[in-house]
Order: sequence, then C-alpha cells, then structure tokens
Amino acid sequence: MYTEYDQSDVDRFWNSVDIVEESECWLWSKGLTQDGYGKFKCKHKTWVASRFAYYITRGFLPDGMLICHKCDNPKCCNPSHIYLGTSKENLREASLKGHLRGMPNGRKLQNMKTGEVYYSVREAQRSLSLNNYKFIYESLKSGKEYKGIFLRDLNNAVI
Ligand SMILES: [Zn+2]
Repeated sequence: MYTEYDQSDVDRFWNSVDIVEESECWLWSKGLTQDGYGKFKCKHKTWVASRFAYYITRGFLPDGMLICHKCDNPKCCNPSHIYLGTSKENLREASLKGHLRGMPNGRKLQNMKTGEVYYSVREAQRSLSLNNYKFIYESLKSGKEYKGIFLRDLNNAVI
C-alpha cells in the first residue's frame, strides 16, 4: 500500500539529513510541515521525513502505527530515535510528558478506524487513494463515510 522508492530516493533522502553522532538528533534540513516535521517528496507521495526514515531502515510500516520520537524532536530522522507506537500510546506518552496539544485547525487528520495519522488532507487522499477528491468530498458532505474518513475528520484534527 505504500509508494515504492528506489536507491536514488534513499540517497536524496539522506542527503537532506544532517547526520551526526549516533546518539544525537539527525535533523531534516529541507522543507517542513506546518507542525515542524520534515517533508520528503518521493514518487508522487509526500512523506513525513521521520516516517520515511523508519520505513527505509526497518523495511516495514504496519498499518495503524504512528511514528514517535524518543527525543521529541519532530525534525529528527535518526532511526534510533524513532519508534512505532499506537495512537493511544502516543497520546498517553504526550500527556505524560505534559505537552499534549490540541490541533484545532485540521493540520493533522486521524483515521478513526486504523489510527493512522495524516499530516495533510493531501496525504490522507494519497494514502487512501482518494483519486477523485471532489467526488469524495461531496459524498462526505452528504454524511457518508469513505474508507473510515468522515468529513469532520477532514475539517477537525483529532490530536
Ligand atoms: Zn532525535
């Protein structure tokens, strides 16, 4: 279900990361999302950079799992600082650390069924193969659900 990548994408990716010592944060040096996560375009898909780092180093990305940072640094792409969590763990972790934030303006979207978080409507569309966005949007407006996404999910962020 995930877009494939090739060696040139991997090279391009690591060239955009300031790789320093293993124990330190490896910061993304290119464009960021509004929330401060690295953005990486690869074969028609925009990835959150840390998610791409996890995927290419571990080779898998199970459905419904979120990428979490041990270092709380959204720009960090050091694979040893990145782990998988469920959204519940992620929220619990965030609230334990005291920085759970509401995202009232829809910058993040969560698929309520799988727990997967998307960083933009466009990413959600791509992940869900919503090819005809207008059609989907019209169906959602009439109260229908499409692949676990409701219109309110597109308009309101969950976390
Ligand atoms: Zn880090």
